[in-house]
Amino acid sequence: MALREIIGHEGIINILRGYIRKERLPHALLFAGDEGIGKRLTAINLAKTLNCHALGSMDHDIDCCDECPSCKKIDKMIHPDVFLLKPEGPAGQIKIDTIRKLQESLSYRPYEGRRKVAIIDDADLLNPPAANAFLSTLEEPPEGSIIILISARPDMLLETIRSRCQRLNFSPLPLKSMGKLIKDRYKGLDNRHLLLLAELAGGRLGHALNDDLIAQRNRSLDILLDILGNPSKDVWKDKKDMEDWFDWCCLWLRDIAVLKATANPDLLINKDKEVKIRELSNEMELEGILKLSREIYNIKRLLNFNLNRPITLYYINLLFRQTGRKIEQGGQFN
Ligand SMILES: [Zn+2]
Repeated sequence: MALREIIGHEGIINILRGYIRKERLPHALLFAGDEGIGKRLTAINLAKTLNCHALGSMDHDIDCCDECPSCKKIDKMIHPDVFLLKPEGPAGQIKIDTIRKLQESLSYRPYEGRRKVAIIDDADLLNPPAANAFLSTLEEPPEGSIIILISARPDMLLETIRSRCQRLNFSPLPLKSMGKLIKDRYKGLDNRHLLLLAELAGGRLGHALNDDLIAQRNRSLDILLDILGNPSKDVWKDKKDMEDWFDWCCLWLRDIAVLKATANPDLLINKDKEVKIRELSNEMELEGILKLSREIYNIKRLLNFNLNRPITLYYINLLFRQTGRKIEQGGQFN
């Protein structure tokens, strides 16, 4: 893959090309925008472009060749001058040891590339000591190095970190181009299915191109029904699973609210689950659904603070019980 093949972010890619052309690439960039829309892909292909052996000898725009040893090594993440950091461990954080190691690596000259590039994925998950240590790197960036922070929750980053980065906002892809892309990928799928995939992905191509998207969605509904029926059952595999579920839950609440407000099933995203959505929507008042959506959204924001899972489960069950009348009688949605 190369920059020219990234779809939907042409504006940002042109800005990046302009920086490189004028030799004015900021030492720290912040790629902000929803999960799965192409931020990491752009960062990796920027790292490839900066270090590509063919840069300058190509007749097209500033880009990587995707074929030279440097491009191949970066694709496999085995290039000695390109680093990709992401949250680790049960707490899902980027810790100070990781940052110290990165700082040491950045302090040497590039081994074989032109520029050292550090990509920090989910940078909002730097824990406080790591974030503070990292700040010194942003204040005095090692010569020739580029740091790219990636975040779907840029408001969770320290203001002092944010203000030292040039921010580029990635927007979701329009539904129409998503539909076409998914169609190219899933040849033979009927139109109804294609539209569901495009809508589910909400402009996030990374998600649409995930073969399991519909299975994940189905599982998220099962989990919701499980929580309504039996809040003591542990339904999430891990923290990431729990976080993802909250996104799905917002989607189900969106459909429940739409059906309640309009009584028009054509407006549902999950049209194939209309029966279940109708059952849930019949049990709730619109105002309650909207309040519940806000609560779920708020809990999702708190997940970074490692919420206790059993308590969270009980709390969600309670919120739904307060919103729905029949749910209170216990578990008949299961
Ligand atoms: Zn190359």
